[in-house]
Amino acid sequence: MKDTNWNNYSLETQAIRAGHQRTHEDEHSIPIFATSSYVFKSAEEASLRFTGQKPGNIYSRFTNPTVSAFQERLALMEKGERCLAFSSGMAAIMAVGMGLLKAGDHVVCSRGVFGNTVLMFQNYFGKFGVETDFVDLIDTAAWEAAIKPNTRFLFLETPSNPLIEIADISVLADIAHKHDCLLIVDNCFCTPVLQKPLELGADIVVHSATKYIDGQGRCVGGAVVASEEIIEKYIYPYLRTGGATMSPFNAWVFLSGLETLAIRVKAHCDNAFELALWLEQQAGVAKVHYPGLPSHAQHELAKRQQSHFGGVVSFELTGGKEHAWKLIDATEMLSITANLGDVKTTITHPATTTHGRLTPEVRAAAGIKDGLVRVSVGLENIEDIKNDLLRGL
Ligand SMILES: *Cc1c(COP(=O)(O)O)cnc(C)c1O
Repeated sequence: MKDTNWNNYSLETQAIRAGHQRTHEDEHSIPIFATSSYVFKSAEEASLRFTGQKPGNIYSRFTNPTVSAFQERLALMEKGERCLAFSSGMAAIMAVGMGLLKAGDHVVCSRGVFGNTVLMFQNYFGKFGVETDFVDLIDTAAWEAAIKPNTRFLFLETPSNPLIEIADISVLADIAHKHDCLLIVDNCFCTPVLQKPLELGADIVVHSATKYIDGQGRCVGGAVVASEEIIEKYIYPYLRTGGATMSPFNAWVFLSGLETLAIRVKAHCDNAFELALWLEQQAGVAKVHYPGLPSHAQHELAKRQQSHFGGVVSFELTGGKEHAWKLIDATEMLSITANLGDVKTTITHPATTTHGRLTPEVRAAAGIKDGLVRVSVGLENIEDIKNDLLRGL
């Protein structure tokens, strides 16, 4: 098993088998290495390992076999050369910024990214002299126009949240490279099962493993996947020093999450597609945002870029905020929470939760209407999900 070249296997197989270096105990399942440090056979060996002249574990802030197994597996699935795991998705994004940026640099970021990502760029990197401009995810010309001589990278999420808009990764990668910038894609919504940004030309993928990779709402974690050169030069030194490490226990949970990722994500997509089609038929629903629907503005792009349309659906009610709250409160089974990617279906009202701190004007500019409801479709029986929403429709 040790010499298997997992590059020759498909994603589903890599997700189940890659990354495990079986120990002398012949275990079938990956063990949790609950150890902070490792012992060396001699003073010389300790020296060789610390200076990187000899591979091997040193200290679990940056080397742990359970975490390494997770990293190796996710790197293969994303078709990247190397992956590093972090304590959360935000820690992964922070690592990319800390590793790549310096005072005076500039970043272009899509407007609809995860709220804390906006705060990270504006409040924290901003504090150290990095300027960030936010542009419309799907406005290719705006991306190019925003690039300056000091732009270091472009950062985006596709599909976006909560309007599920799709950016063309290949086109934006070409634009980034033409201007000597990197393209970074947060692949949390799609996972490598639906979309592999590195194959489409992106330079770095970041993940919140908290969502679909765990899939059952248990652990918080994140990852960065890129070329060996980018990881070794910019990300690994920061992880080793900054210390936002994934714990071996969390890595073990995420490893088992990866084992069922392909089958779960496909089931999420099937349920979401059926729900989107059904929602389009309901009175009181003004618009359904789902890239699987021919009515979606980037339907053709989604078909080309993703292997399926994803597990998140949002829709606008004609009755505004009042109707949205009524619908949410009328559900009996759905979880009222902003989390996503869980086997349990979750429902949220973006205008008063995830986007509630924005001014009404900024919210309107972002297209987030008061009647908008977002559902992260879980794996319960689809008829039960429909019936639960029907109570308030
Ligand atoms: C949740 C999320 C994050 C942050 O991840 P955490 O694991 O919660 O730190 C980043 N990006 C996206 C798209 C997310 O949904």
